[in-house]
Amino acid sequence: MENVDQQMPALTTLTEDEKMLQDAARDFAESAIKPKVQEMDEKAKLDPELVQQFFDMGLMGIEIPESYSGGGGSFFMSIVAIEQISRVDASAGVFMDVQNTLVNNAFLNFGGDDIKERYLPQLATEKVGAYCLSEAGSGSDAFALKTSAKEEGDHYVLNGSKLWITNANEADIFLVFATVDPGAGYKGITAFIVERDFEGFSVSKKENKLGIRASSTCEILLENCKVPKENVLGEVGKGYKVAMETLNEGRIGIGAQMIGVAQGALDAALEYTQEREQFGKAISDFQGVQFQLAKMATDIETARLLVYNAARIKENGNKFLKEAAMAKYHASEVAENVTSQAVDLFGGYGYVKEYPVEKYYRDAKIGKIYEGTSNMQLNTIAKLLLK
Ligand SMILES: Cc1cc2nc3c(=O)[nH]c(=O)nc-3n(C[C@H](O)[C@H](O)[C@H](O)COP(=O)(O)OP(=O)(O)OC[C@H]3O[C@@H](n4cnc5c(N)ncnc54)[C@H](O)[C@@H]3O)c2cc1C
Repeated sequence: MENVDQQMPALTTLTEDEKMLQDAARDFAESAIKPKVQEMDEKAKLDPELVQQFFDMGLMGIEIPESYSGGGGSFFMSIVAIEQISRVDASAGVFMDVQNTLVNNAFLNFGGDDIKERYLPQLATEKVGAYCLSEAGSGSDAFALKTSAKEEGDHYVLNGSKLWITNANEADIFLVFATVDPGAGYKGITAFIVERDFEGFSVSKKENKLGIRASSTCEILLENCKVPKENVLGEVGKGYKVAMETLNEGRIGIGAQMIGVAQGALDAALEYTQEREQFGKAISDFQGVQFQLAKMATDIETARLLVYNAARIKENGNKFLKEAAMAKYHASEVAENVTSQAVDLFGGYGYVKEYPVEKYYRDAKIGKIYEGTSNMQLNTIAKLLLK
């Protein structure tokens, strides 16, 4: 019988390009991000120096073609980079995740030549993007949004507010979903490209959060905000498609963020349990502790396989909706459990800020909430199973 292994690489086998980016992201995370993590968490602010470094490293436009000054890489490469950055800091992870998997992908998949030429080089080299769908009254039921867009001559006038917008403090380019016809339901929703200095646009209250504290999460106000007609992304009334398709991809990114967080917590626990002595020996010598570590590693591997599999399926151009929902659902569950176990393994030291695991535990919680709550992922999976 033929050796199948030689023909079918494992899901975790990386191409040369994937491995190179993985190593570069890991080195960057260890050398540039790690020394700043605690201070950024305490100050609830991403270090502004890091923002430009992310661009210089080519981590903000991984999939943008080289002809638009991007990295010319693949979706899978974004996924491995998000995982490595999140292993050190989930806030830095979501910073590049939103840019690559939501904003850049929306521009790449739905932008015409003019939009691509105007915006992709900026997104690849210097400008941060944000994705503005949620509102105070519409989260899981995202298409019940109320922000309105009224056509007036050569532009639209946007009115309303957006809540929970990641990267709002750092961003210059905002993808804003609004309805051109509130009576038309989801068929009125349209995607607009709004720049920070457009008249009537402002970034308002910043949230004080449990985790991913260095990631800015703010309210956005649109008060008679004038947006030129050429800044509609995709077709008028087809914004729901832009939102749905980008979020489907984005979910795999959140899965990658969560396996990074879980791996970071496990790495810390492996180091600590071999150093900490009780009853005259390292606590990692106790079989009870060893079994906890082994289960954590196994859970992370199951989540990683789901995330990598969904990313590979997407990259091959096949349907990946169910796999993406499963990956995000499972990875966020694993991250919550593994980071909680890591706190346990540190004992009292796990509960204080001198050690890294309490932050991993706080950061993990967001995985079950944004880009569709766990219930919404289960909804999607069940719908596809039962149809
Ligand atoms: C830190 C952070 C960053 C974010 N970043 C962004 C961003 O950049 N852009 C953006 O647009 N949004 C962003 N969000 C918003 C996020 O996507 C929403 O919070 C999320 O979709 C949930 O919506 P909600 O908060 O209104 O909760 P709700 O929709 O009110 O849900 C509350 C609870 O009810 C459950 N529920 C609701 N409907 C159902 C149902 N049909 N069946 C079963 N259970 C249900 C949910 O699962 C949840 O447990 C962010 C949120 C946070 C906290």
